Amino acid sequence: MTTVAAYAAPAGKAPLERTTIERREVGENDVLIEIRFAGICHSDIHMAREGWGEAIFPMVPGHEIAGVVTEVGSGVTKFEVGDHAGVGCMVDSCRECDNCKAGLEQYCAKGNVQTYGAVGRDGEVTYGGYSTHIVVDQDFALRIPDGLSLDVAAPLLCAGITTYSPLKHWNAGPGKKVAVLGMGGLGHMGVKIAHALGAEVTVLSQSLRKKDDGLKLGADHYYATSDPETFEKLRGSFDLILSTVSAPLDFGAYLSLLKTDGALVNVGAPEEPISLNLFSVIGGRKTLAGSMIGGIRETQEMLDFCAEHGIGAEIELISASEINEAYERVLASDVRYRFVIDAATI
Ligand code: NAP
Ligand code: ZN
Ligand code: ZN
Repeated sequence: MTTVAAYAAPAGKAPLERTTIERREVGENDVLIEIRFAGICHSDIHMAREGWGEAIFPMVPGHEIAGVVTEVGSGVTKFEVGDHAGVGCMVDSCRECDNCKAGLEQYCAKGNVQTYGAVGRDGEVTYGGYSTHIVVDQDFALRIPDGLSLDVAAPLLCAGITTYSPLKHWNAGPGKKVAVLGMGGLGHMGVKIAHALGAEVTVLSQSLRKKDDGLKLGADHYYATSDPETFEKLRGSFDLILSTVSAPLDFGAYLSLLKTDGALVNVGAPEEPISLNLFSVIGGRKTLAGSMIGGIRETQEMLDFCAEHGIGAEIELISASEINEAYERVLASDVRYRFVIDAATI
């Protein structure tokens, strides 16, 4: 075991504070990554404040991790010391079920092992990226291509893959009208990626405050959902709506914006359930679906795609002492567009 510095929530709803944690020794198939940057995902807040239910404390959140490999185990073939590497939302899975074999480790039949706040297959609690170092199995570490700076690459490990995977699965591309609902951390990546895939992109945001940014990031159109006229005007418009909203919404209203056979794919994970009149999907043979991050192979594909298209996240770099303040700003939809912690300040 090696003692390293970290920021942790000592209990549910308690502010995060500096502490130390133990990382395991580097095993045969492990890499040791010196963390340079860690993104703040809204999921970190849902988790640390127990919005999704009881959690394990102390909790070191963070599943958007980018750094440099500083040690490799004897069996490691994928990385060398000095390589840029990332870790996303999972650090292990059963590797034997049909989903794992198909590269869909996020849907592992036995449950994937999440990067923090989970119990690993070795029985130890996992700690995430708000830390100076992490030890991870090479199979769950990603190669960060040279063309991507580590600070803007970090958020790709969750926000990037969570939007890339459904956009690919539901065929966002030339000739497709795609709406991205909510322009925060996930949403702004959704705009960039859908645009790079060749789709016609519309942002549906609560207000027009971020319109200029949205158009710069690649959106063709930008509407405020606070304006009832938006729903009149856009009725029946979209092939695909990707909802990244962290709060419960009137999904019926958004389903009315789909064309016949269109799909509303939800990746937002609100803390409360929604209610829905099912006539909103019956009329127009519509699909309401969900999607969770992406598999390891697809995450690598996404990183390579982003490097090829020059796509990184728009970030506000903060020091670790600003984490609690950053959480409040995320909750107020006041983030442009991802807070990233400089791990040198931990
Ligand atoms: P975020 O940066 O806070 O962005 C969420 C956006 O949703 C906000 O910027 C805001 O966009 C909109 N929004 C917030 N509250 C709203 C409300 N009451 N009504 C309407 N719109 C509202 O959060 P994020 O990090 O992108 O994460 C978004 C959600 O996805 C979270 O619930 C997170 O847990 C979940 N998530 C899921 C996965 C997955 O695998 N499925 C992965 C990562 C995160 P505007 O200001 O543009 O309106
Ligand atoms: Zn996340
Ligand atoms: Zn499995």
